[in-house]
Amino acid sequence: MEIPCPHCGGQTPWSLLQTLNQCRFCGSILSWPYPEGEPDYLVADSVVEQPEDLIDVLATYDAMRESSLRRGRLKSGDPDRPELLYDLGGGFANVDMYEMKRKRIHLFKVLKSFCLFVPYQMVTSMISFHVLGRVSGDHKRFQSMFFTAEDIVPGYPPDWNFRDRGLQVSKSTLRPLASNVSKGKFLATATVTGELEKLTRQYTNQRKILESEIQPICFHGSVFDVHRWWVYRPFYFVNASTPQGAQWFLVDGQFGTIAGTPSAAEVDKLTRGQWQKLDLHKIRSCNIKAIPFRCPNCGWDVTLRSGIYQLCDNCTRLLEPYEGGLKIVSYRTMPPDQFSWWPRSHRGPKVWLPFWRFQLSVNLDRKEYHDLSLLFKDLLPAAAKLFRPRQDYCIPAFDCWPVAKYDEWAFGFGARMSEETLLPSDAVLHENWAKKEEVLLPAISPKLIPDLFPRILPLFLPTTAHARLNMMVLNRLAQAVIQIHNLELIYSPCPLFESKGSEPKLHGPSGQIEWTPIRERKWPPILQRSVKRWKSLSDGMEKESIPKSRSKWLTSPFNR
Ligand SMILES: [Zn+2]
Ligand SMILES: [Zn+2]
Repeated sequence: MEIPCPHCGGQTPWSLLQTLNQCRFCGSILSWPYPEGEPDYLVADSVVEQPEDLIDVLATYDAMRESSLRRGRLKSGDPDRPELLYDLGGGFANVDMYEMKRKRIHLFKVLKSFCLFVPYQMVTSMISFHVLGRVSGDHKRFQSMFFTAEDIVPGYPPDWNFRDRGLQVSKSTLRPLASNVSKGKFLATATVTGELEKLTRQYTNQRKILESEIQPICFHGSVFDVHRWWVYRPFYFVNASTPQGAQWFLVDGQFGTIAGTPSAAEVDKLTRGQWQKLDLHKIRSCNIKAIPFRCPNCGWDVTLRSGIYQLCDNCTRLLEPYEGGLKIVSYRTMPPDQFSWWPRSHRGPKVWLPFWRFQLSVNLDRKEYHDLSLLFKDLLPAAAKLFRPRQDYCIPAFDCWPVAKYDEWAFGFGARMSEETLLPSDAVLHENWAKKEEVLLPAISPKLIPDLFPRILPLFLPTTAHARLNMMVLNRLAQAVIQIHNLELIYSPCPLFESKGSEPKLHGPSGQIEWTPIRERKWPPILQRSVKRWKSLSDGMEKESIPKSRSKWLTSPFNR
């Protein structure tokens, strides 16, 4: 996305889901919060600017068709899917087609053309799966898996048809609509509720995406953390003289392709203006603001880091942006070197990892629990010996995706934190840290915890108890009403082992794990909407076993 800086007007590139940015011209820190209610309006650039561009699109298709015809390869088929009519064959050279196009392009002439901007909705979401299944044959376990998805769905009234298929979030440039309204005619938006429900169902019922890692016995999928944008895409209704006579075409201006051949009724509706236009007065501009980026505690100029949370390098306060600048997020720290599992001989550096810590009350069948071990004893009496009492819970505030046991390591770390008798102190990091120590910023918003926590309860069971779980127990757990109290952020030290010739490793209560993926937030995989791509993606995942070394999966096609 290219959006002008409100301070200097320079165009700054933004990616989806980015809410903080720095203007590359004036250096202002820019904030673009997700709007409440109606999404922001964007418009996609058109590759078609002049009548010659339309002629070029039509003549290219014509040349493809002609070349196929001469090879006897033209198929009969759906006139709305022109690309299916042509089989260019293995030995086909582009040169043939360009030669054909060069010879015939003078036979084309645009007689009429209407440009219409058509609304779509772009959606990003997180998909969570909570799965009870078997890993490599017989090992029964509970696992939570998370995926990110980006989609684009039609957002126009049902009496229109723009021949959408395999829509993808395009790489082409998007701009705010408010500053581009003079460009053309905009079709009114329609409700997308049905489309979004279809999308949600398609994801949450999708077993295939899980099967490369675990054979599900039962699973529950849900979509959360949904963000939406209206995106207007340019279309051209073109009447052109062609070697076959005058015809109407529907040209997709964003991609420069023929989308189909509109019917006389469709053309009639458009040319007679019998359609509802977007009320341009209702469009507010994207609310991007330049915000002061100074530490409210010590006045230090804060350097922008990716993500939401920021850190003052001077006084180590954790900071969160709001429309007026930065505010302090309080945290407490665990004392260094005090954990019972801490390697006594370790003299090397340490890093600081963020965790959300809280107490809870669980209501199930009119009984209230403050300790999950008591709840599990009631649900799984045969495994009662396995549960240890616990008053508070620590879950990782950093990304720890279910790949190569990163999630197990991180949740295990949190579990041991709440089992130790140590209490966090009010100290801020700089009272503890040596200058070279790194601080990992929180990536998990505390807002997600109340929604997610009920479903991940089984992760707090010892793995030996997973075998006793079944669908009935999971369904009962899902009915529990959970309240979270005293949510706070805790930083814990973690020893870092560096040695020449190998990846730096974090040491935790359950062993070691590579530091770089956690630090750089590089994780597979990503989903795409189109079923075809999804299928090839999940097929690909089966072939590519869960990557063991960082270098292998940093180059994985699933990374952004
Ligand atoms: Zn600027
Ligand atoms: Zn400061």
